[in-house]
Amino acid sequence: MVYKLPPLPYPYDALEPFIDKETMFIHHTKHHQAYVDNLNKTLSSYPFLANENLEKLLENIVKLDIPEDDKTNIKNYGGGHINHSFFWKIMSPQKQMDKLLIKRIKKVFSSLEKFKEMFTKVAMSHFGSGWAWLVEDKEGNLVVYSTPNQDSPLLRSDRPLIGIDLWEHAYYLKYRASRIDYINAWWNVFKFF
Ligand code: MN
Repeated sequence: MVYKLPPLPYPYDALEPFIDKETMFIHHTKHHQAYVDNLNKTLSSYPFLANENLEKLLENIVKLDIPEDDKTNIKNYGGGHINHSFFWKIMSPQKQMDKLLIKRIKKVFSSLEKFKEMFTKVAMSHFGSGWAWLVEDKEGNLVVYSTPNQDSPLLRSDRPLIGIDLWEHAYYLKYRASRIDYINAWWNVFKFF
């Protein structure tokens, strides 16, 4: 199959003033589009992968019998596609409280504030480009960690529940070098609480 850039579920300026229109536009039409294009280009050499589900492909990438540099390309571009598709969906100008997620977070981290503090600390101590995640692991535990580059939690068979893009392209135009201001602002557009 040929992957396509999914439309944003809201206009480019919908997350203003927290995430600015220009950042959203470039992030979606240039960065995400490039991951999609490069993923398609990489997969075009492997017709036998054409109908493989992308999530399954990432989960099983180590077992795949193709050259290492193409595995890396699938990990990077496939991860980039899947991470960004997820990221657009968990942001919104309107809150849609996820009571179950809130309950689970409170149970593990004692309060939403404590959770945000811990998550922010992980995001802030991540060096360079990458993502910070809240995931559910195979045993059903909630875990917070960060990953480099476009590495998806699916590579570890973890299911992402919350993910924040820590690449400078996600915030540099508005927040310049201040990752902390971006993260603090980002909670305002996080959809589920
Ligand atoms: Mn990004």
